[in-house]
Amino acid sequence: MNEGEKKVVSKMIAVYCRSRHGAGKGLCDECTTLRAYALRRLEQCPFGDDKPTCGVCPIHCYKNDMRLKIKEVMRMAGPRMLLLHPLDTLTHYYRERRRNTHFASRVKANKERGR
Ligand SMILES: [Zn+2]
Repeated sequence: MNEGEKKVVSKMIAVYCRSRHGAGKGLCDECTTLRAYALRRLEQCPFGDDKPTCGVCPIHCYKNDMRLKIKEVMRMAGPRMLLLHPLDTLTHYYRERRRNTHFASRVKANKERGR
């Protein structure tokens, strides 16, 4: 489930770890834990492949400390991802946008039906 996102999040954590923690090819312990956590959250996301970006998701399934860490990773690795993996990143953002729009209109439709 969410294979594309798993790939992107793994790459982002790798980029982050290399420049922030100076780990070589692998990840440091902290980032290994973070990655395992992030992948598990994606795997268990109740929205499945329809999931919106975590920023707009109503669930916020990350634990507090993990959420802070992943935010830091996104903030730092986001712009670098565009340089290092432009195609993956653009595809990712494009898909996210499309899904967010889709998700927002579905939420709206549900609300209107409930009235
Ligand atoms: Zn690290």
